[in-house]
Amino acid sequence: MRRSPTFSLLFLFFLPIVLPACGGDGAPDTGPNADGAPAATAGMDTERMLGHVEELASDRYEGRLTGTPAAERTRRYLIRHLEESGAVPCVAARPQPDSLSAWEHMAPVEEGSDRNLVNVLAVVPGAGGAADGSGAAGSPRIVVSAHYDHLGVRGGEIYNGADDNASGTALLLELARHVAASPLRHPVVFAFFDYEEGGLRGARAFVDAPCGAGDIALNINLDMVSRSEEGVLYAAGTRHWPELRPVLESVSVPAGMRIAFGHDEPGTGSDDWTFASDHAPFHRAGIPFVYFGVEDHAGYHQPTDDFDQITPEFYRAVGRFIPRVLEAFDAAQ
Ligand SMILES: [Zn+2]
Repeated sequence: MRRSPTFSLLFLFFLPIVLPACGGDGAPDTGPNADGAPAATAGMDTERMLGHVEELASDRYEGRLTGTPAAERTRRYLIRHLEESGAVPCVAARPQPDSLSAWEHMAPVEEGSDRNLVNVLAVVPGAGGAADGSGAAGSPRIVVSAHYDHLGVRGGEIYNGADDNASGTALLLELARHVAASPLRHPVVFAFFDYEEGGLRGARAFVDAPCGAGDIALNINLDMVSRSEEGVLYAAGTRHWPELRPVLESVSVPAGMRIAFGHDEPGTGSDDWTFASDHAPFHRAGIPFVYFGVEDHAGYHQPTDDFDQITPEFYRAVGRFIPRVLEAFDAAQ
């Protein structure tokens, strides 16, 4: 799930404001290392990110349905890479079964249910912060999220969910490595949520009982960030949290993508994405959010949402843009 696939004519009347592709720094940005940072240390490695998508959207992961061996296989992959990243497990709020690793947080899919979901939660402490992820002097935390689950196998067809949401998951995995190499002022929690497709359940469980310690200042949610022929990434949420917009507008936008504000107008039906993905429980709890995602496309919730259908140049640009967004909020908060 993210939203109804219905396209609304309202979109024509609420045309988004699209910022130019050139950022404020005017610097050319044409490759993975164009930020001038060494790829192996501080730079976001967008080729590695693409490799994660190709892997997670392959048939081996059988569409990553909650509660299946394929979902567990997905978590093993995430954890193996997190262990190499320099991030650490975010301490669970509730006692956890011994069968789970420290990175995994189990919760009932809803209160009283005997079915469970499993989030994977990592943290990079803020510079000078405590090892459990709480920040120095009570520095609040930034939670960056992406759901790793998808629809599984239906009618014999595998729903690989390359864009929805292997793309956000892969970006988040590489972002954790990037941030661990150069920690920010604020602690950053990397939340790989389960069972978004069942009603944002993993995110709801997290907001009810967050891992680690400390307030949450902001949620940055990534869901469907790799497929746009037009090269447009939406930032939704600033209508509700207008103080976030100047920070976003200050971020230089890499070549290969544009950023558009919108999809957060109340009363516009399925065009309003305010409650359409894992940022919604944060918003309901009074925590500011910004959601990044692409416009609906032909592969949305179809078995054709495959790796060979994503838009690599656009996705690479998004992979360079999101770390800048995180750094801008880290500096502004
Ligand atoms: Zn999704």
